[in-house]
Amino acid sequence: MNKKPIYLDYHATTPLDPRVLEKMIPVFTENFGNAGSRNHAFGWEAEKAVDHARNQVAALIGASEKEIIFTSGATESDNLAILGVAEMYKEKGRHIITCVSEHKAVLDPCKHLESLGYNVTWLGVDKQGLINLEELKAAITDQTILVSIMHANNEVGTINPVAEIGRICKERGVLFHTDAVQSVGRIPVDVEKMGIDLLSMSAHKIYGPKGIGALYVRRRNPRVRLSPLVYGGGQERGMRSGTLNVPGIVGFGEACELAQKEMASEAERLKGLRDKLWKLLSAELDEIYLNGHPTEGLPGNLNVSFAYVEGEALMMGIKNLAVSSGSACTSASLEPSHVLRAMDVREDLAHTSIRFGLGRFTTEEDVLEAARSTIREVKRLRDMSPLYEMFKEGIDMNSVQWTGH
Ligand SMILES: *Cc1c(COP(=O)(O)O)cnc(C)c1O
Repeated sequence: MNKKPIYLDYHATTPLDPRVLEKMIPVFTENFGNAGSRNHAFGWEAEKAVDHARNQVAALIGASEKEIIFTSGATESDNLAILGVAEMYKEKGRHIITCVSEHKAVLDPCKHLESLGYNVTWLGVDKQGLINLEELKAAITDQTILVSIMHANNEVGTINPVAEIGRICKERGVLFHTDAVQSVGRIPVDVEKMGIDLLSMSAHKIYGPKGIGALYVRRRNPRVRLSPLVYGGGQERGMRSGTLNVPGIVGFGEACELAQKEMASEAERLKGLRDKLWKLLSAELDEIYLNGHPTEGLPGNLNVSFAYVEGEALMMGIKNLAVSSGSACTSASLEPSHVLRAMDVREDLAHTSIRFGLGRFTTEEDVLEAARSTIREVKRLRDMSPLYEMFKEGIDMNSVQWTGH
């Protein structure tokens, strides 16, 4: 019996919604034209499909369709925003502000800029994962050309106050980029109300296909200019050359429209399931800790640390659940996640964190099963743990002489 695990990793990727696939299929077969072909119906049809999708994507974030630049995904969007601004505005200044708990797609281009002589301020976060607005204000100088702060964190779900960040940036005349991969389609995002100048999004995080994303680039107040990363045919207003991925774009557009229609009810349902999972776990297990913000969090995110168990052993014991752990998600290394570290989560707890990511196709039965398996396994491991036994006997753990780490 090789049953597939229950998928609870919706922050890593999401399955394609069948309604999205249905819209994509004809674009692979009959309407396969190049949207750049101006001389025949194949090209016109493809262009029409792209225009429609561009409107669907723009509508989800309160933008105009001319402000959407299609890319290969949010990694490229983040790189284009950061490197594109850095190159274009280098005469104005060479200072960028970002945050230590960002996705690698933001951290790494910023590190690259540091190696080129740019100045990067790395803001910290508090224990709930939020940046400090006063620190942000204090970090802005005459040399600052860009602030890049994510909307919702992909590990712990914490939602930053982007509208306030946008206001601060506007006051100081600094461009504001946000990686909104995890928030777009899950909670309301509006580039006007939030004062966002550049915004990264990705289709495969919102039930669309992989390999397609977008960068929103503001056209008015101010008009943002970008140096391209890719040169060629001049597609996407010259900011991203290359033949458009029409099936991907059509799927992305449809995914955005569905998200817009269903976001409110879906968020409410997911929040209910997430709260239920937390309630079930905390009713049966002591010494478990929520990572993230108690109120300002994504509806489908539950990141929990389990004290007195070994992270790897716990993951091994819940193989019927497709979840992420705080140590394994940093690829091959056994370092705990940089996000939990930035939040000052205790080292032992960072190693035993599990991210439950709930989404559109998660059922109540999935949640009950996730709770049952996790509870069973944590109890089993604790039954074998001398540390847990000592804790139960009331021995002050801080008085214990540790060896190793
Ligand atoms: C998944 C993700 C990315 C990368 O998106 P891709 O489209 O897979 O390149 C960037 N930022 C965040 C916050 C993400 O969750």
